[in-house]
Amino acid sequence: MIWQRLKLWRRRRLLQRHALPDAEWSAAVAALPLLWRLSADELQRLRELATLFLHEKDVTGAVGYRLRQDVRLKIAAQACLPILNLGLEYYAGWVSVIVYPDEFVPEHEYMDESGVVHVTRDVMIGESWERGPVILSAADAERSGNVDGVNVVIHEFAHKLDMLNGRADGFPPLHAGMSSAAWSHAFSTAYEDFCARVDAAEDTAIDPYAAENPAEFFAVLSEVFFELPQVLQQVYPAVYRQLSDFYRQDPAA
Ligand SMILES: [Zn+2]
Repeated sequence: MIWQRLKLWRRRRLLQRHALPDAEWSAAVAALPLLWRLSADELQRLRELATLFLHEKDVTGAVGYRLRQDVRLKIAAQACLPILNLGLEYYAGWVSVIVYPDEFVPEHEYMDESGVVHVTRDVMIGESWERGPVILSAADAERSGNVDGVNVVIHEFAHKLDMLNGRADGFPPLHAGMSSAAWSHAFSTAYEDFCARVDAAEDTAIDPYAAENPAEFFAVLSEVFFELPQVLQQVYPAVYRQLSDFYRQDPAA
């Protein structure tokens, strides 16, 4: 048990040494309506997690861009919301969060089946690499947290959780007591229904981008779970229950 005590002591010391000034934290919470439903105890735990997150991770601006401290803090607070009841270990194995001022256009090379190399240049607002960095647009991170269902920070960090057990496929490591069959059934039924609605050009409450593939479906529905939980609960109640078990939160309550 000595290690356990040492760990707790180290954590306390880190929290004291790197404490976020009250004014900075209050301003971040005030700017993020997403956090207003949290209890005082949850907000306190989120503040501690965000403090440790900013200590453990390297949250910096891309070359030539000076990232403001208030934006760093907003990113940290939103990134830590999904792991509020899971712990920072869920973001282990990587360190970098690279932030661009706005949308960015990364160059990706890939080889097709016939061995031809292609280069893609897609405009992105966020990206998440397996065992690598999370990349975000500051403008879009700042627009997140307004409880409109869109949150690039939660989206990219949901991919990180998904990739804890290999490549992103919409199937993160489930907790003991959760059923893989129930997870797959809830998600595949909802995914099929959602793709049919998108194909029929229906005006969906959820971003049609979720129809891209099961990994994007999980990431987009995680955004909706935290931003507009009642909407998700109404449209796909079985998915809501699975996400509630996974994140160990019940934001619709
Ligand atoms: Zn994505």
